[in-house]
Amino acid sequence: MVGNWPRSVIVVGAGIVGLSTAWFLQERGVQVDVVDRGGLAAGASWGNAGWIAPGLAIPLNEPAVVRYGLRSLLDPAAPLHVPATLDPGLWTFLTRFAANSRWRSWTRAARANLPLNDECVEAYEVLANSGVSAPVVSAPITAAFRTRAEAEGLLRELRRLEAIGQHVEHAVLDGARLADQVPLAGEALTTGVRIDGQRYVDPGAFVHALGRAVMRRGATVYAVEVDDVRTDGRKAIVSSAKGTVLSADAVVLATGAWLPRLARQWGVRVPLRAGRGYSFTVPVERPVHGPVYLPGVRVACTPYQGGLRVAGTMEFRDPDAPQVPARLEALVASVRPLLHGLRWDERSDTWVGPRPVTADGRPLVGATTAPTVYVAGGHGMWGMAHGPITGRLLAEQITTGKQPAALAELDPLR
Ligand SMILES: Cc1cc2nc3c(=O)[nH]c(=O)nc-3n(C[C@H](O)[C@H](O)[C@H](O)COP(=O)(O)OP(=O)(O)OC[C@H]3O[C@@H](n4cnc5c(N)ncnc54)[C@H](O)[C@@H]3O)c2cc1C
Repeated sequence: MVGNWPRSVIVVGAGIVGLSTAWFLQERGVQVDVVDRGGLAAGASWGNAGWIAPGLAIPLNEPAVVRYGLRSLLDPAAPLHVPATLDPGLWTFLTRFAANSRWRSWTRAARANLPLNDECVEAYEVLANSGVSAPVVSAPITAAFRTRAEAEGLLRELRRLEAIGQHVEHAVLDGARLADQVPLAGEALTTGVRIDGQRYVDPGAFVHALGRAVMRRGATVYAVEVDDVRTDGRKAIVSSAKGTVLSADAVVLATGAWLPRLARQWGVRVPLRAGRGYSFTVPVERPVHGPVYLPGVRVACTPYQGGLRVAGTMEFRDPDAPQVPARLEALVASVRPLLHGLRWDERSDTWVGPRPVTADGRPLVGATTAPTVYVAGGHGMWGMAHGPITGRLLAEQITTGKQPAALAELDPLR
């Protein structure tokens, strides 16, 4: 340590959040090393939909989600899936999540997101203009609905965002304009809402490019599973069961849906669970002008390597559990009647990944009970969009000792 601020930091977790934190710490002159049990982009940051979508980064914990969740318990094909299990931690999480699914908590989470939404695109531009060589594509995201009444749900949410200070440029599309914008839209989709000014990335490619940039700037990436994090008051020490021991002035735990395993002992008590989503890639017969959102079945589709990446479902299961084929079949069955021109039999890249979902809808970013231990995670549905700006804000906090105003509501010790 020089003065009071760390000169060296170990980041545990090489997803978008950990690597962004590493990059912005390096920008401030800190020597960083990164540790991930699976190498770069081994968790949720690989197969997600890649939307950098401040206009849609709406918290999950709205009142309707509880009614929806209860109905889903009876429907094995529903996009939201809670397995019948006796895991008491899961039920504690769900009870807290349900208690937070009120407009008051939703508004609080949406307000907490505002500074992240405001600056997330700019933080991507900083990375892309400073040696992270992966495209950040500018495009509208088009939400498509069976009926105009269904579209009202999203329009109401956009009005709620507007009321708390986030203006989202959008346009309602009738059937003909929807077909122009989304040539894949089937006849079942009659109304669109085009959200302008959004971005998307190939998330795996972006995170790998970010990892390479962090290594070029001097970091070593260790492929090691961290089992223990300790501090002797001056240094943070991370170690693995296999005998690797690393130490630095501070450590940042950015282990996504696995965060509680290492962070709980440092006073981070907000329940966090893996809301697992699935994705796959499918070739297409018609052009795709930009991402397509199907709110009725809660599916996100993104142009990906000449085809379409289809991503969806929310399954509260252990982050390390294997894929459940029934979830994928339910995902395919939900999209098939809505989009045409997809070559379903040729799909590839089938993937499952754990969204780190907190019980109050707010991420966990900042200092812990130990002065040498920080956490960054819990971004749920929107960690890809909010990862770089999170890294920039946390790097500021670590190197100045002052909590940026934007992180006050994300305090991990709340
Ligand atoms: C289907 C789907 C679609 C999504 N679409 C979007 C989207 O369009 N836009 C958006 O903004 N977000 C999206 N998300 C959410 C986004 O993917 C996540 O919020 C984000 O990737 C979380 O990043 P992270 O760095 O916190 O976690 P992760 O990417 O999960 O990284 C955590 C890392 O920690 C490592 N790790 C864990 N434990 C240890 C340990 N003990 N020792 C060493 N390493 C460890 C893991 O290997 C992993 O690499 C989507 C998610 C899913 C599942």
